[in-house]
Amino acid sequence: MRLKVNVKGIVQGVGFRPFVYRIAVRNGLNGYVRNMGDAGVEILLEGKTAATNAFLKEFKEKKPPLAQIYQVTKLKLDGKPEYSSFTIHKSSTETEHSGSVVPPDIAICDECLEELRSKGDRRFEYFFITCTNCGPRYTIIESLPYDRERTTMLEFQMCSFCKHQYTDPLNRRFHAQTVACPKCGPKAHLTTNEGELINSEDPIREAGKLLSEGNILAIKGYGGFHVACSTTKDEPLVRLRNVKHRKQKPFAIMARSLEAIKTFAEVSPKEAETLTSYTRPIVLLNKNENYLLSDMIAPGLHNVGVMLPYTALHYMLFDRIQDSAFVMTSANPPNQPIISEDREALKTLGETVDYFLFHNRQIAHRCDDSVARLHGKNLVFIRRSRGYAPAPVMLKQKATRCVLGLGGELNNTACILLENKAFISQHIGDVENIETREFLENAVKHLIHLTNSKIDAVACDLHPKFTTTHLAHELAEENGWQLVQVQHHYAHIAALMAEHNVEEMVGVCCDGYGYGEDGEAWGGEIILGCKDSRFKRLAHLKKQPLVGGDLATRYPLRIAAGVLHKKADVKSWLLENAQHFPHGETEVQIVLRQIESQAMAETTSCGRILDAVAAILGVCYERTYEGEPAIKLESAAIRGKDVLKLEPIIKDNVLDTTEMLLKIFENKARCSSADLAYSAHAYLAKGLAKLAVEKALEDNVNAVGFSGGAACNQILAFIMQKTVKVEGLRFLVHQKIPPGDGGVSFGQVCQCGFFQF
Ligand SMILES: [Zn+2]
Ligand SMILES: [Zn+2]
Ligand SMILES: [Zn+2]
Repeated sequence: MRLKVNVKGIVQGVGFRPFVYRIAVRNGLNGYVRNMGDAGVEILLEGKTAATNAFLKEFKEKKPPLAQIYQVTKLKLDGKPEYSSFTIHKSSTETEHSGSVVPPDIAICDECLEELRSKGDRRFEYFFITCTNCGPRYTIIESLPYDRERTTMLEFQMCSFCKHQYTDPLNRRFHAQTVACPKCGPKAHLTTNEGELINSEDPIREAGKLLSEGNILAIKGYGGFHVACSTTKDEPLVRLRNVKHRKQKPFAIMARSLEAIKTFAEVSPKEAETLTSYTRPIVLLNKNENYLLSDMIAPGLHNVGVMLPYTALHYMLFDRIQDSAFVMTSANPPNQPIISEDREALKTLGETVDYFLFHNRQIAHRCDDSVARLHGKNLVFIRRSRGYAPAPVMLKQKATRCVLGLGGELNNTACILLENKAFISQHIGDVENIETREFLENAVKHLIHLTNSKIDAVACDLHPKFTTTHLAHELAEENGWQLVQVQHHYAHIAALMAEHNVEEMVGVCCDGYGYGEDGEAWGGEIILGCKDSRFKRLAHLKKQPLVGGDLATRYPLRIAAGVLHKKADVKSWLLENAQHFPHGETEVQIVLRQIESQAMAETTSCGRILDAVAAILGVCYERTYEGEPAIKLESAAIRGKDVLKLEPIIKDNVLDTTEMLLKIFENKARCSSADLAYSAHAYLAKGLAKLAVEKALEDNVNAVGFSGGAACNQILAFIMQKTVKVEGLRFLVHQKIPPGDGGVSFGQVCQCGFFQF
C-alpha cells in the first residue's frame, strides 16, 4: 500500500526525520520523509499493510523525547510504488498546513556533556557541542523549513568528520543542523572592552578566571549577551549597579552545579527538578542560613534567582576556578531588549564591562532567560521565554478565528491563537520605545512565519495610548484585520480560565495598573468571567489617591500619606521621613498641599496598597524596578505572622484598605515589621477571597481564580487558597502562563470573542 502521512507539531529540529527513517527501514518500507515549509513533516510510505501498521505503532510510541505531535493526517494513495528504498528527501518549502512550530532552545544533553569531558572525543572541550537532542533552535532559525542553510550555522561548512555523522542514520547527529566541531564550527574569542583581540589558547576558561578575579565580562550566549561577574566580591557588583543604573534590581546568578546551589539556597525536590530540566529556567530560591554571596546580588530579598549552566560554554567557565556561582544577568540598557549583535554589544556595553567573550555565530532571534518560582509544587512563571517559547500552550477548545495578541505595555509578550494552540513569543520587555517596539514587530513576524498563520484579528489593550495599542491599529489597517481591545484585568482572568478550561470563574486580579472600562486606574478587582466573553467587574479595592500621579508609584510614601491623612498626623511623620523624598522637606510641603487640594487621580490597585505598607514599615521608599516595594514587602513578611488579625471591612462591593493601613501605621513601633507585613498580606488576601467567594456563591460559580502580577506573591496565593477552599470552591492559579503581564497577550486572544471558554 501507499500512504502519505502529514505530521503537525514540534517535529523539525528534534531528530524527527532520522527517527522516521530508522523505523521505516526497520519495517522494510520504501518512500521518503521530508521537512515542509510550514514546520511540519511529510512522510510517504510504500510497502506491505502489516509493515505500515507496525511503522505507525512505533511512530506513536517511540517518538523522540523533544518531539510533540499535535496532529497526524493519513491519506491512502493510488498508483504503483515509485521508490526502491527509504530516504530523507530534501526539504520542501511548500506550506500547506499551519500550527507546527520549531522547538525552543534546549539545554545541553547528558550525552553531549559526557563527550565534552571525554579526552579523545573529537568535541572534547568544544564549547559548541550539540546534537539532535540539544542546542539552540528558536534563536538560530531565520526561516523554514529548518535546515542548516536557513539558520545562522550557514556560514560554517561541515568538515568531513561532521558530515559523516550528519549523514549516518545510526548517529546521534544524523541531520542535526547544529552539528559542528572545533575544526569546522563556531569559535570563541576574548577581547578587551574596546574589542581588541586577546590572544588566548583557551579563551573560555580564561574568561572564567577573569570573572573569578573580579572583572566584569559580557558573554555571548544562545539568545543574546549576559553580563557576568563574581558573586562574592562587592567591587564589580558596585560597578555593575552604577553603570547599569540598577540600584536594587536583583541579578540572576548561574551556579556550577546543584550541589553548589545548596551551599547558599534551599532547594526542594521540585525546585531541583525545574533547575535541571532541559528548559533550565532561572528559579527564585530562598536564601539559606549559610548564604555567603554578596548582599548586593538580591538586596532586601529573601530569595535569589539561580540557574544552572545550559551550554557547554557555561560549564567550561567554571572549570579552572573554585567559584560556586557567577552573576549572569541579561545585557540590556534600561527598557531595551537584550543585546544580540557583536557591534551593538561593543557599543553599548564597552563602558560597563572589562572584557568580552564572543563567538562568531550570529544570533537570529533574541531570547532572554526564563524566570520561575515554585509555590509549593506549583510552577509560577515570572517570565516565560528561553526553553519554552515558541512551544504552544495547548487548549481544550478551538478558536473560531486566528488571532494575534500584542499584550500590554510592561513585561510584554505577543501571542498567536490558532485553533487549539496558543503560541506565546519570548519575553519582549517594556514596549515604551522604538527598540522594543521593533523587537515586538520582528518577534510577531517571526511567529506568524513559524506557525504559518493567517491572522484574522488583532487584540490589544484598552489603553488608548499604549505603544502596543497604536501598533495594533496600524496592523489592523494595513492587513485588513479586525481590531479588538481587551480590558487588562479581563485578559488576566481570561488567561486563567482558558488555561484551566473553565466556562465560568470569579477571578481575583491583583495588579499594579490597568486601564479600566471606566477609564480609571484599576488593579485590585473581582471579575466575573463567563463563557460568552462578556466579563463583568463585580467588586474592587477601595479607590485611593495617587498623590502626585506617577510620582506616587515611584515614591510609595506618597500613597501612604494620601490614604492616612484624614486619620493620622501625617505631617510630622512625613517630615521625619523627609530624607526619603528626592527634594526633602520642600517636597513634603508640596505633597501636603497636593493632598489638601484633593484633585488627585485615584486607583484601586492592590500593588499600590502593598507599596504603601512597604513605605510605612520602612521596607522600601523608592521603586527602582517594577514591583520593588511589594516584592520586598513579601520578603519582609516571609517569617512573620498575623498579629493584627484584622477583619475585612467590606461595604457595597468594596474592600476597605484605609483602616488596615491605619492599623499598620499605629502599630509600627509596637510590632515587628515582619508581623505587620504579614498582617497586611493576610488582610488583603482574606478580604479579596471573601468577596470573591461571596460573589461566586451568589452567581452559582464553583471556581475562584487568582491572577495578575501580585499572584506571583506566595503569601497572598496561599492565604487566598485556604480561604476559598474552606468554602468548598475550586481555587485556580496559573501553571503554564505567567500570572503577570507576560500572560496578557494570551489572555487577550482568549477574551476577544473568538474563543469559547
Ligand atoms: Zn546533545
Ligand atoms: Zn566538524
Ligand atoms: Zn497586569
